[in-house]
Amino acid sequence: MRRRGGVPCLTWHSVSAEASWLPWAAETSVRPETLDRQLAQLQQMGCTVMDTAEFIRRRRACRPVPEGTVLLHFDDGYLDNWVAAAPILRRHGMQATLFVSLEFAAPERPAPQTLDDTKSPARWDGYLSWGEIRVLDQAGPGKVFDVQPHGVDHIRVPVSPRAVGHLTRENWKRHAWIQWAAMRGSKHDWYMTETPPVVPAGTAIPESDAALAAPAFAGGALETQAEYASRVRAELARCRTEFKARLGKTPELFCWPQNRTSGLARRIAAEEGYLATTAGQGSNRAGEDPSVISRVHAGENAAGFANAWIDTWHFHATVRCFQGNSYWYLLILAAGLSKAVLKRLRKRRQRSRQRQDARAA
Ligand SMILES: [Zn+2]
Repeated sequence: MRRRGGVPCLTWHSVSAEASWLPWAAETSVRPETLDRQLAQLQQMGCTVMDTAEFIRRRRACRPVPEGTVLLHFDDGYLDNWVAAAPILRRHGMQATLFVSLEFAAPERPAPQTLDDTKSPARWDGYLSWGEIRVLDQAGPGKVFDVQPHGVDHIRVPVSPRAVGHLTRENWKRHAWIQWAAMRGSKHDWYMTETPPVVPAGTAIPESDAALAAPAFAGGALETQAEYASRVRAELARCRTEFKARLGKTPELFCWPQNRTSGLARRIAAEEGYLATTAGQGSNRAGEDPSVISRVHAGENAAGFANAWIDTWHFHATVRCFQGNSYWYLLILAAGLSKAVLKRLRKRRQRSRQRQDARAA
């Protein structure tokens, strides 16, 4: 049950006091106080944060990393990473890697909110602008984010002629990738309308996979391996070119959208000059492929309801499991079971309420 040596790579997305604009907030957003508590917990556990690119360079050179090393990642480039995550990281003296998708950058704002403006931010919704990303990425004392690419548009692609449902006014935001795939240029404001902005309700939702992970089904046929490879290569090359132009640096890491990739895509990333990419299933141990980063989600409401004490122990267990102490998995299992049971109960209650409403009407 014990196999030491794993290096946890903890991943967050949104850090917000008001994340209702995100249809996947329940799965991917944590409250600022939760992130604050989790980072304090890492310190209490004797963990030290290492910059991921530095960690990868050490692994490639077969140099050891100190025991207790952890890596911190933030995905998708939400504005709340500027508003909330950056000041919290700075307070804890920690540095993280921020992965942004090119076509979600918001238009430049004349006076971006300051990093210390945590009391009453003007807004929680939306994405970072390149101006804000550039400030976050600037070297110097107090630097909290190393910015690296998370693809161009974060879309999925159809992988067969099968449909798995239809877009409705209620579900279209959960399937936002269909709108993103049809939108030209920046998609930073995709969530601002009540109705689907491009692809209308009633349209079939195809069976799909993350765009860089699989050949796309289009025009009645699947892409050939060569077509798929050239699509992946074009996206990785565009990220490199745009990072050079906008941030003046060559990206070293790549985060596969939706944590999905393929062996072919990994090979292309290496050929395009990326030192390492995400979506591994290991524990970042010495002896594992140093070009693969394995990550674990850091969330909240682990047992299905807001409880700081349970969440703190769940976070502790997540880190210890990744480090190789599998006894802690029992706690993760218990929280997962509680969450599943509560979800089922809530669904049952909702269905019975709907039946009562229907009878009343
Ligand atoms: Zn993402």
